[in-house]
Amino acid sequence: MPAVLTTAASITCPHAPGRVPPPAPAQTVLFIMGEPVITAAGLASMVIVGCADSSRKPPTPCTKVVRLPQSKKLFIQGSPALLAGSGKALKPPLPFPPGASLRAEDTASHVFA
Ligand SMILES: [Zn+2]
Repeated sequence: MPAVLTTAASITCPHAPGRVPPPAPAQTVLFIMGEPVITAAGLASMVIVGCADSSRKPPTPCTKVVRLPQSKKLFIQGSPALLAGSGKALKPPLPFPPGASLRAEDTASHVFA
């Protein structure tokens, strides 16, 4: 089972140093190792900074998180916890899809769902 993501998670796009800064938690009920669990309710506020994708002219850097794996078991205030694994990023002005692949890990979480 994949790890439950907290605000300490490492979420990166394939174009280093593109990454998702710790999001403002959408819930303050469930914490793991002192870090709030991030839920699908917070997806809309998760941005990507530093994406260095210059493979197109003009460049289309990743800007926002579109999708991350969601727990089917763990819900917090009605919203599923987000899980480690592969996700998708938005690359405007390209429509979604195609997007780009995200990688989410949380080695400190030690909670799986
Ligand atoms: Zn990127």
